[in-house]
Amino acid sequence: MTFPSLAGLYLHIPFCKQACHYCDFHFSTNRSNQEAMVAAMVQEIKWRHNYLPEKSLQTIYFGGGTPSLLPTPLLAALLEAIHQTFDTSALREVTLEANPDDLNPAVLQAWYDLGIRRLSVGIQSFNEQHLRYLNRAHDAAQALRGVDMARRVGFEAFSIDLIYAIPAESHRVWEADLAQALALDVSHISAYCLTIEERTVFGNRLAKGLMAPIPDQWAATQFEMLTQALGDAGYEHYEISNFARQGRYAIHNTAYWQMKPYIGIGPGAHAFDGQNRHANVANNARYIRSILQENTLPATLEVLSPADRANELLLVGLRTQWGVSVAALSQLLGQDWYIYNQTTVEAHLAQAWLEWTADGQRLRIPPQARLLADHICATLFVD
Ligand code: SF4
Repeated sequence: MTFPSLAGLYLHIPFCKQACHYCDFHFSTNRSNQEAMVAAMVQEIKWRHNYLPEKSLQTIYFGGGTPSLLPTPLLAALLEAIHQTFDTSALREVTLEANPDDLNPAVLQAWYDLGIRRLSVGIQSFNEQHLRYLNRAHDAAQALRGVDMARRVGFEAFSIDLIYAIPAESHRVWEADLAQALALDVSHISAYCLTIEERTVFGNRLAKGLMAPIPDQWAATQFEMLTQALGDAGYEHYEISNFARQGRYAIHNTAYWQMKPYIGIGPGAHAFDGQNRHANVANNARYIRSILQENTLPATLEVLSPADRANELLLVGLRTQWGVSVAALSQLLGQDWYIYNQTTVEAHLAQAWLEWTADGQRLRIPPQARLLADHICATLFVD
């Protein structure tokens, strides 16, 4: 599956109501500078007009943080700047990440009227105890009501986010979460393993011995439950954490997994011009000051070597069911990637950690070995 090479545009909305205990994304709970933030982002959108030779957008993605917290007029200002700056006549997907507690008929209608057609709803769990453990700001009833309200407004494309491997006495809560997720009958599900990151509440608890690490076997069992339940229900497991029905893949994210260029707007956002990466400062006040007062984009350049690019394509491509093209790896590396890795690839093929796609051009990880994806990739990196 490949999508046309039109550009994707990501906007990072760096505000949240409260800090979830597992989260290490960039956000602030201080929302007093929302207007200034959007003014700075509008300016960045204009400055980014020439970032890519391609001026036609195929996707817009509002991520964060919590984009559903942003007042509608500010969201409208961002979209207006995008429409004024880029060619949006070929847009195929406009996604907004939303938390269940922000959903109501009026705001859903306003988003729909602005042209947003796909919602990615951060449900994470339907279990009240687990939601409190994660420090989510919503309850399960709000999640169910939110999806229902969005459907009534006309939204058809939904993704819901779930988290598995949350510590519990048994796997029963995860089993119930999966059953509830399937009952919602959405077109797309993203399910992420709970990981304990250093600069989070869970990371602190772990460091102080107040929390145990998540056992690998616990996570592995829940991953197997996930793939089994969603596979039985007709979802395609097209990326390690993503499942779609009837070909409703996330177009924006799929472009990342194919290493297509994209534009990133907002504090903490990254951009990729096809060669190198740019990272905006992950600090709200500094981002605003730099753009609005100093007339400077607060971005740093990360120069990628040919080996870096090949390793990145391998890492993202092997996470998908389409795998990675050996010819594309060789092109990025500037030498025959297969020859470089022949011994390791052949060993992986022999033990069914890798397989060729039907056309013999691409390598992929068979479904039963997907849990080992990180390890398999690490053995194939080039220096
Ligand atoms: S998980 Fe989402 S809502 Fe929670 S703190 Fe992180 S960005 Fe905010």
